[in-house]
Amino acid sequence: MIYYMEIKDVTGIVITELPYSESSKILNIITREYGVIGVMAKGAAKLKSKLRAGASKLTYAKFQIYYNDKGLSNLTGIDIIDNLKNIKTDITKISFACYILELVKQVMKHEYNENIYDILIASILKIEEGYDPQVITNILELKMLEYLGVKPIIDSCATCGNKTNIITISGDRGGYLCSNCRQNEYIVSDKTIKLIRMFYYVDISKISKLDISKESKREIDMFISEYYDRYTGLYLKSKSFIKDLEKLQKVK
Ligand SMILES: [Zn+2]
Repeated sequence: MIYYMEIKDVTGIVITELPYSESSKILNIITREYGVIGVMAKGAAKLKSKLRAGASKLTYAKFQIYYNDKGLSNLTGIDIIDNLKNIKTDITKISFACYILELVKQVMKHEYNENIYDILIASILKIEEGYDPQVITNILELKMLEYLGVKPIIDSCATCGNKTNIITISGDRGGYLCSNCRQNEYIVSDKTIKLIRMFYYVDISKISKLDISKESKREIDMFISEYYDRYTGLYLKSKSFIKDLEKLQKVK
């Protein structure tokens, strides 16, 4: 049997690069068209290769490939869309970007659709523009819950369904809690309760201002961490790296 492969243009971002033989690389790319794909970049490690510059982690580009839906595709060209130089020169931004990529890759194992890709790229670009990487990451994490099939309850009390007297949020208990259902959960600020909902529904690409207090940032991150631990079963190495990095920066 003969397989005809045609050249396709795909847009995407490189998640991982692995050396292959003396001079080649295998890339994992999250693409808008096909979700996560594996690509052979022949000769990409050679000095003169036209693939050399783009065949690396965090390259956001248009890729020309011979698409193979049964295995590795072959890379023939790369046109960089944005070189993400602010991210690539900042260890904190790099670690959040890598965490986001790893998380989205896991989400795409459950489900693939273009919305997930668009949320990913919008988040990466906002981090590149200089918006707080932790807040952008939290927004993406909240949005991914729907695609992981574990949407939080943030329209009413997660326990009784009451829409009034919402007093706090709890990752363990699945979302909002009203004053009747709250037991000994920590009480977050009203701001935080509103922000969680806003984050969940906001179009990331339209964000133009993020003015969030330290307290709300901490409370939101705490809610999301608890929620992921309790409901998603995901353990991502890059997340623990971010936590370690934060500890190091506090020591400084
Ligand atoms: Zn309740």
